[in-house]
Amino acid sequence: MSTLSTDAAPLDVLAIAAHRDDVEQTCGGTLLKMAQHGRLTGILDLTQGEMGTRGTAEDRAQEAAEAAKILRVSWRQALDIPDGRVENTWENKLKVASVIREQRPRVVILPYWKGRHPDHYTASTLGYEACFLAGLAKLDFSVDAGDSSAPLTAQRRQDRRHPAGATKPHRPFKIIYATLYYDVRPTFVVDITELFEARFQALMAYKSQFSDQEAGKDLFPAQAEIRARIEAMARFYGLLGGVTYAEPFLQKEVGLVEDLTLIPVKSI
Ligand SMILES: [Zn+2]
Repeated sequence: MSTLSTDAAPLDVLAIAAHRDDVEQTCGGTLLKMAQHGRLTGILDLTQGEMGTRGTAEDRAQEAAEAAKILRVSWRQALDIPDGRVENTWENKLKVASVIREQRPRVVILPYWKGRHPDHYTASTLGYEACFLAGLAKLDFSVDAGDSSAPLTAQRRQDRRHPAGATKPHRPFKIIYATLYYDVRPTFVVDITELFEARFQALMAYKSQFSDQEAGKDLFPAQAEIRARIEAMARFYGLLGGVTYAEPFLQKEVGLVEDLTLIPVKSI
């Protein structure tokens, strides 16, 4: 796994989420499946997890790298957006747009745009708008563009010399939404029956969060309970698709069909 981008091949699929471990919970099996099909996959975490009840941001960085290995992700990076304060600002949009341009994904997976945690639904809008901006040829990546009163910090001076995202415009072909955190009917599911165990292990790589311990005992369920919940969800979405385990997604576009006899999922 690399965090450098320079001349890397474009990613086939990039999953963007607010927190480390969100992707593992909502679409990790799908990413692993894509990797097994020879696709290049990546994860962009918007925050580093410094607000978590358990563990430090450094713990979570190590755990995220371990999880990425299990999911066979070829690129993973965390931005420095404050945990618990994911806001859809111009600056944050540029940060995400710059990653889109560097990694040039064909497909972007975003969180669903409604949810309990503000970071999750804000990440959805922020991600969508960043995908749009990344395709604008004349986008100005200097953070203080249009704001001459903003203090020119050392970082900003650096950004001006080598503006992040000073790469070619790029807009992903497809944006889909991982809906597992929200009770909404998906438009399609991905069969992860063969990958369920690996996905669960990727989540359990976040030992600071999920191993049984004293800290946050009232907030966090025991590991056996976590497994039961995750399995129940995967079973439910599997049932909708006529398989054992699946992950749910939503696309805004309609499905395009070439051959009626090949449409999957039995009706009666
Ligand atoms: Zn989260």
